[in-house]
Amino acid sequence: MIKFDKVNKWYGDHHVLTDIDLHVRKGEVMVVCGPSGSGKSTMIRTINRLEEIQKGTILVDGQDIHAKGVNLNHLRGGIGFVFQQFNLFPHMSVLQNIMYSPVHVRKQGKQETRDLAMSLLERVGLAHKAEAYPGSLSGGQQQRVAIARALALKPPVMLFDEPTSALDPEMVGEVLQVMKALARDGMTMVCVTHEMGFAREVADRVVFMDAGQIIEVAAPDEFFGNPRHPRAQKFLADVR
Ligand code: ADP
Ligand code: MG
Repeated sequence: MIKFDKVNKWYGDHHVLTDIDLHVRKGEVMVVCGPSGSGKSTMIRTINRLEEIQKGTILVDGQDIHAKGVNLNHLRGGIGFVFQQFNLFPHMSVLQNIMYSPVHVRKQGKQETRDLAMSLLERVGLAHKAEAYPGSLSGGQQQRVAIARALALKPPVMLFDEPTSALDPEMVGEVLQVMKALARDGMTMVCVTHEMGFAREVADRVVFMDAGQIIEVAAPDEFFGNPRHPRAQKFLADVR
């Protein structure tokens, strides 16, 4: 579903991604972890070209995303992205937030989109908040709406960049629950997160990054039980 081949990126002289090779299979849940500044956000953002690369190739669903003629709106619409900040439209209700892109960008019918939006709200446990405005919701609720909004475009892949990092601790669990359910339903997911419990329980593989490189890729049992690289060992000791 996603394939990185020798991907490199620089900010000026700063080499932020070095020879990234990665293969995410359909239905796989990949958790990306590593110290702050190691390039996790940059890497995940290259997948929908929020960040451009200077060398290498990235395939999404078999397509080279840097090929001539690739439509960026189409590419981004096909990849769900949930950030640390929820970025809901504050002047729209929850339901309008979810319906906006399907109706105004994809030109889908209002009634079918409303039905879809309501079923997604059920799925994230917020059907009773359909008419509420984002400002009246907790951070955890807003993030669950942001997930529902991303799902409304029926993406084959969902990317998460530290979706629980801005939340008060008591709200982390409800967002992770929604992500776990998505994973169980077979969604292909790439999640940057420091929630090692989530990684242990849900990840098919864990990717450890440091200084712009992938240092280790392993099944969670292996990564947590027996991290090979000293920097991974240190990282795990620090987050525990
Ligand atoms: P992480 O998400 O792992 O914390 P980032 O991908 O945000 O790491 O950052 C990787 C490196 O790239 C860091 O050294 C950061 O300072 C640098 N960086 C990130 N964004 C920019 C930018 N827009 N311009 C210059 N350097 C950047
Ligand atoms: Mg980051």
